[in-house]
Amino acid sequence: MKCYICAEEGKDTDAVAICIVCGMGLCMKHAIREEQDVWEGGYPFPSTKVSKTLPRILCPYCHDAIKRR
Ligand SMILES: [Zn+2]
Ligand SMILES: [Zn+2]
Repeated sequence: MKCYICAEEGKDTDAVAICIVCGMGLCMKHAIREEQDVWEGGYPFPSTKVSKTLPRILCPYCHDAIKRR
């Protein structure tokens, strides 16, 4: 898979991660790693507590959308 954002810019970069929200492929430069606490409060994720933070990969678009809520 190729990085979607790089593809939009006319570049051809291999994806190293996938956005967990929209599923687009992302290269190292465009993948945004967020820890679990970003999702606290609201999002209907497991009600049981996870003992450690889990990294989640987001694309810049989804990261933006979540930050703006
Ligand atoms: Zn990229
Ligand atoms: Zn996304």
